[in-house]
Amino acid sequence: MTRFAAPAVLACPNCRCVVLHQRLASWRDFGSVSWSDGYISTLDMGTFSTLGRCPECTRLFWFDDAEELGWLPEQPVKSDWPGWRRFLARMGFDPRQEVAKTIAWKALPQEWQRALRVEAPDVHDLHRAVHEGWGTTPERASYLRTRLWWAGNHPARGHQGDDPLSDPEKRDNKQALLALVEALPPEKRNAMMVGELLRELGRFEEAVAVLRPWAEEGVAAARVLLEKAQAGDTLVCEIGRTQLSY
Ligand SMILES: [Zn+2]
Repeated sequence: MTRFAAPAVLACPNCRCVVLHQRLASWRDFGSVSWSDGYISTLDMGTFSTLGRCPECTRLFWFDDAEELGWLPEQPVKSDWPGWRRFLARMGFDPRQEVAKTIAWKALPQEWQRALRVEAPDVHDLHRAVHEGWGTTPERASYLRTRLWWAGNHPARGHQGDDPLSDPEKRDNKQALLALVEALPPEKRNAMMVGELLRELGRFEEAVAVLRPWAEEGVAAARVLLEKAQAGDTLVCEIGRTQLSY
């Protein structure tokens, strides 16, 4: 089942405000679609993000750059308890830890109690981040550009809403991402990603050369992409589905 872990309490590296980062403890797959660009359409709660937007100063920050102050305990159901309940709790009778939770909560600093959750960056944030040089390492640059790539493909997936990027912006982003992936040592390079970027960029011969060995190895997704590249198709496509799991 999908379950949240206690939120991490972070200090925003820009304004030092105390903010909360919600994370998942476990994940239940409600049925998802895998796409040729690596995007998996599922409940997107921003919980897999490594970049967030501070709810106080609205600036972006990498979670790795934020000081972790601790964990927020579960909020109690009541802010106070009658004297007899507190007395029983002191005597050891607090079966669901309700009184203990209230005491622990009241002991927290005020800014922890009223801390707001970090927001997930939207496509405009990602675009700005790329152009303001937030991709300070190859991993971070790839992270930003991969998510921009996904956002640029959303209209072709049938997602509603505005198309946030122009065609030249999408193309430039794919080229820059391809350069980042190709600069990696071969053992870290994702061949399927290279093949898909080449295909979406219309470089079909190169895409076929990259994808063919994987298709011949029996990788199902590579077979789909190889066929699309051979047909001169540049559109993102579905490569798999999972059913609701219990
Ligand atoms: Zn901030």
